[in-house]
Amino acid sequence: MAELRSETNFAVVGAGAAGIGAARRLLDAGSLSVVVLEARNRVGGRVHTIAPAGFPLDRGAEWLHSADRNPLSSIAERLGFSIHRRPPEWTSRLRHSGVAVEAEADWRATREAQARARRAAAAEPVDRPLSSLLVPGGRWNELLDATSTWGNGAELDRVSVKDYVRYEDSGTNWRLREGYGRFFETLAKDLPVEFEAAVSRVDHTGRSIRLETARGTVTASRVIVTMPSSIIAAQRLRFEPTLPEKVEAAAGLPLGVDDKLFISLSGQLPGVEGGAYLIGSTTSRQTMSYQVRPFDRPAIHCFFGGRFAAALEREGEGAMFSFAAGELVRLFGSDVRRQLTPLASSAWLADPWARGSYSYALPGHADNRAALAAAVDDRLFFAGEATSPNFFSTAHGAYISGLTAAEAALASLRRWKSGVDSREAAAAN
Ligand SMILES: Cc1cc2nc3c(=O)[nH]c(=O)nc-3n(C[C@H](O)[C@H](O)[C@H](O)COP(=O)(O)OP(=O)(O)OC[C@H]3O[C@@H](n4cnc5c(N)ncnc54)[C@H](O)[C@@H]3O)c2cc1C
Repeated sequence: MAELRSETNFAVVGAGAAGIGAARRLLDAGSLSVVVLEARNRVGGRVHTIAPAGFPLDRGAEWLHSADRNPLSSIAERLGFSIHRRPPEWTSRLRHSGVAVEAEADWRATREAQARARRAAAAEPVDRPLSSLLVPGGRWNELLDATSTWGNGAELDRVSVKDYVRYEDSGTNWRLREGYGRFFETLAKDLPVEFEAAVSRVDHTGRSIRLETARGTVTASRVIVTMPSSIIAAQRLRFEPTLPEKVEAAAGLPLGVDDKLFISLSGQLPGVEGGAYLIGSTTSRQTMSYQVRPFDRPAIHCFFGGRFAAALEREGEGAMFSFAAGELVRLFGSDVRRQLTPLASSAWLADPWARGSYSYALPGHADNRAALAAAVDDRLFFAGEATSPNFFSTAHGAYISGLTAAEAALASLRRWKSGVDSREAAAAN
């Protein structure tokens, strides 16, 4: 890789959904002087499609959440991607898990009661963890905790009520048949991305900002930082002068852990139609959620989160597969074992450029998102899913935050230029 030694108006750190959104906006505004500095050798960050068996699998983001309000839905359609609008059966996944339909209705009622309790608690002056709303000894407490690990990447005791209720879920969820990662690759096609250019230091002491990367130094007038909150909190990227308020904000917004295991399935699972969801156990928080034959493809997608996922990641794909196969055998009988072969898996916590899956706020830290998003000195801007006020933890939230940061960076450079023009005019008179 060639050494970087460039001067640019705008440098964007990270080519995930936020960085792609920011760079697209800057280029669309006619700014040719943009560089995107990416640590990996690919774009997309936590959105990544692979195809080990010939059909696409999303290791990270997969769903266009709040799809009817998600700006990426129409962009994907315009770019020729096929949108799969079949609603996911997340609310009816208990019936394939050995639970009677009446029990499933009870589970749904419990979830609705929890949603009401969350809204009431969020209106109280002092924030608290979601776990404080559980009914002691409640029948579904373990499953509520498991569900939190899928939605938040963390158990209920870790998650702020106030932050949780700020997330805007329209209830509409769509998918792209070709994969969400392929979509972001297409969106990034003509962007000026420099790969394997991890940024280790951002020096904003002088008039130009100096970025030290693994491939040399770049100077920029304006910088948009989009890396995960985990990387900022761990100070894997250093600011000079230091920005303790950013480190503190990011530390209150850790990344939870969610991983996927993809299993090749020969034939059908008895009594389970293509696209159906099921849960391995309704009485243990250490369990997986399964989608059987998504898009009618010969596979099962397994999803798991929280401390359980962190532990399985450390043990590796073999341990993930043996756990999943064990749950499926318990539900469908031992013959099923012969139908299953591991295909691929993710390990987002161990990924050095992600260090987790998506952000949640610790109790008392719901306002950290605004603190992390705030610009420094009107020339250092922050984006990324953790900075989104209402669509955090998602790819579209990250993308929108990139657009917002780019608008602010453009306006700031315009202001500075018009200041220079008027100073020059004053000097000429
Ligand atoms: C298993 C899983 C399932 C998910 N499911 C969904 C879903 O269905 N729908 C949804 O909307 N969202 C989902 N998400 C969340 C979504 O993927 C993220 O919220 C979103 O992609 C984050 O985008 P970002 O740009 O903020 O960060 P990232 O995607 O993390 O982008 C940041 C970029 O910065 C780079 N970087 C890091 N450090 C440096 C450095 N020092 N120098 C230069 N570059 C650096 C990284 O390599 C990365 O490319 C899921 C995530 C996971 C892990």
